[in-house]
Amino acid sequence: MSNSGCCGTGNGGGGGYEIARIEKAKNGCHLCEEYAERQQAKPVAVICCEGACLRGEVARQAANILCHSLAPEKTVRICLGGAFTKDTGQRNLVRHAARLIALEGCQVNCASRMMNGVIEGLAPEVIIADRLYEFDRKLFGIEEMPPEQIQLHAGAVARKIAEAL
Ligand code: SF4
Repeated sequence: MSNSGCCGTGNGGGGGYEIARIEKAKNGCHLCEEYAERQQAKPVAVICCEGACLRGEVARQAANILCHSLAPEKTVRICLGGAFTKDTGQRNLVRHAARLIALEGCQVNCASRMMNGVIEGLAPEVIIADRLYEFDRKLFGIEEMPPEQIQLHAGAVARKIAEAL
């Protein structure tokens, strides 16, 4: 039974495979590649659900707080879309990270499943963010919670992860 109160009954894995065909990127982004180059030495890479719901938004903000405020020397914030859709710098950061944390908004586990689909044998530490804070689990949309409350939950999640780094 669902722990998070959303997203059906799936656990984000174990249901076989779906084959996706991703068009190779025609365009690169030199800013993204330079960022990846600069971040190579950091030991912990953080991928995250970039979803548009409340749970995804809490996870997204938590990843930003963790990587940019609480532990910027240790952690690198990965662009999930970039790492998933092109085999360049961001994907290499994920591939070669000494430690990989997948901060998931909910039990759909989109970030870890996406990256597992393009990097064989990947074994991220999956943290399901909505289990780390208390809230009304019937809520779904970002607009259903005040922005300040979302920030507070994101900060709490980020601190819990930072303490365990
Ligand atoms: S947290 Fe779950 S429902 Fe929300 S965007 Fe991510 S995968 Fe979708």
